[in-house]
Amino acid sequence: MSSTNRGTSAFERLRARFDGEPYVCDACGRVDGEGSWHAATSGSAVVYRRRCPSCGVESVRDYRLSSDRDQARPGTTR
Ligand SMILES: [Zn+2]
Repeated sequence: MSSTNRGTSAFERLRARFDGEPYVCDACGRVDGEGSWHAATSGSAVVYRRRCPSCGVESVRDYRLSSDRDQARPGTTR
């Protein structure tokens, strides 16, 4: 059995994109290049949260998954 997970999920691709960019706080404008986003899926959407190390405000980004619906199986938390 040699079939691994073909194709990264949309959610991992998005996360990689986020982690590759500097984070700018919505509230105070602080730029943080070291933290990482915390991703959570909710049905057909992905929600990313990140807390500013300076002012503590939590930023939220949410994205809908369009084509990976079949791969989003409930209960597959790793
Ligand atoms: Zn801030």
